[in-house]
Amino acid sequence: TGAVRRPLVMANWKMNMTPDQVEPYLQQVIPEVNKDTGADVAVAAQDLYLAQMVKETAGSRLAIAAENAHWTDDGAYTGETSPKALALVGVSYVLIGHFERRKLFNETDERVNLKTKAALKNGLKPIVDLDEDLSAYAKEDKKTIVLKQLKIALEGITAEEMADVAIAYEPTWAIGSGEAASAEQAEKSAEFIRQSLVNLYDQQVADQTRILYGGSVTTENAADFLSQEDIDGILVGKAALKPESFLKLIDIAQ
Ligand code: PGA
Repeated sequence: TGAVRRPLVMANWKMNMTPDQVEPYLQQVIPEVNKDTGADVAVAAQDLYLAQMVKETAGSRLAIAAENAHWTDDGAYTGETSPKALALVGVSYVLIGHFERRKLFNETDERVNLKTKAALKNGLKPIVDLDEDLSAYAKEDKKTIVLKQLKIALEGITAEEMADVAIAYEPTWAIGSGEAASAEQAEKSAEFIRQSLVNLYDQQVADQTRILYGGSVTTENAADFLSQEDIDGILVGKAALKPESFLKLIDIAQ
């Protein structure tokens, strides 16, 4: 891993956890994260819990993330969450274009772009998620989907703004399936994404941008991913639902 890129370990709770589980989870994780471990650590949760989570992690090194945000600051968008409100509440990161958003909520590349820009404008750090399905993977042109998603997501975003952007690469078939990509496959894709950043921006942007792998990361396979040259972090669903297991993942990333 490039010396300048600090690893990022992010839990994605998705639509899980009950209200009574939130505080004990954070209280268990905070002391370890505060030891400053050499990795950045964040937890993404459903909106309902975010304000409370920001309060409970105040003064700690544990950052809080939203799982989605709208592309405008306010207005008549019933049921949506404003990136401005998230930033004002103290949320640090936001996942943009997660596979489940794209697949289940028809999130398009264009919306991902608008949401990424709105997040940056408000001072949120977007994790832009790129996914790759199995049929694309099997074909020779397997890189084109990821490249298309990357290009459109970052349209109009400056080299300076890229300092706050991270990319997550997630093969769709690996998400929640218990069947992770091999570390070598994931590294090839991460390397391809980094090279694409050289082409879209320059070497400096490519060198500084964190690229995460996500999709059935576990305490068993995390080290393999994190030891790859171009993989700078992990986005973890199922294996991060238990604080003990998330703590192990943080430990591995240090
Ligand atoms: P998983 O989820 O770790 O449960 O596969 C990853 C993700 O959706 O980001």
